[in-house]
Amino acid sequence: MNQNLILAEKSLRINWKTWLAIFIVILILCKNNIQTGIFTILIGLLAVYFSHVCGHLYIFYPFTITHLYHHAHSHIYSHLIEILFEFFVFLCIPVSAAAIELMGFDIHNVFSVPAFIFVYLLYTTVHNINYSIFHVNGVHEFHHKSYTYNFGPDICDIVFGTKSGDGNGDRDGDSNIENTDHYLPNIFICGLATYFLQWLDWRPAFIGLYILTAVLFGLCTLYLFYKHMYEYERDHYNYLFHRKKM
Ligand SMILES: [Zn+2]
Ligand SMILES: [Zn+2]
Repeated sequence: MNQNLILAEKSLRINWKTWLAIFIVILILCKNNIQTGIFTILIGLLAVYFSHVCGHLYIFYPFTITHLYHHAHSHIYSHLIEILFEFFVFLCIPVSAAAIELMGFDIHNVFSVPAFIFVYLLYTTVHNINYSIFHVNGVHEFHHKSYTYNFGPDICDIVFGTKSGDGNGDRDGDSNIENTDHYLPNIFICGLATYFLQWLDWRPAFIGLYILTAVLFGLCTLYLFYKHMYEYERDHYNYLFHRKKM
């Protein structure tokens, strides 16, 4: 069997608690349509992974400058700017789906907006709290040193061969499988938050907040682009693009 799939199977076995907890959240959020919930979670995992990979592709510069700023700096503004980046980039799919629902189209059998929002909340809290504030392990710090590894979520890195758990890029052995038990409090709190969101008439507010975030994101991108357009900074950011073939 392919080495990545062997590692994925090991990871699923080691992290059974994480996947069971995610499955329980899907059961609660999408109790009338479990298949749609599972499908949306898979789409959400792939979307956040590939959006982050694109954040390191030169072709998307300077739209990715906020994420590169997060890599180059570690202070309150760099964290806030990264949260803005993740909100704007990761939520474009569910905000479009929420707008389609508001226009009167029924897409409940195809896509679950709450399930995608749950994936987003899980990713953004694991990244910005577990890794960036509590430093639960060195997995994400390694991404900041070697930006071709550990984009997250964990399972996507394993399947697509971008996982490194030991900090040296060596992909042999179990050291590449992260114990994701630290996701559990996030799954519980994000699941609960998304569940209560369903009780409110939240779609217009969600779309409004997204438009506001898009404006803020655009202003931050413009500001950072003009502030860092000097040769030295551009070279520094160029370093943060991954030019390796995936
Ligand atoms: Zn980071
Ligand atoms: Zn990154």
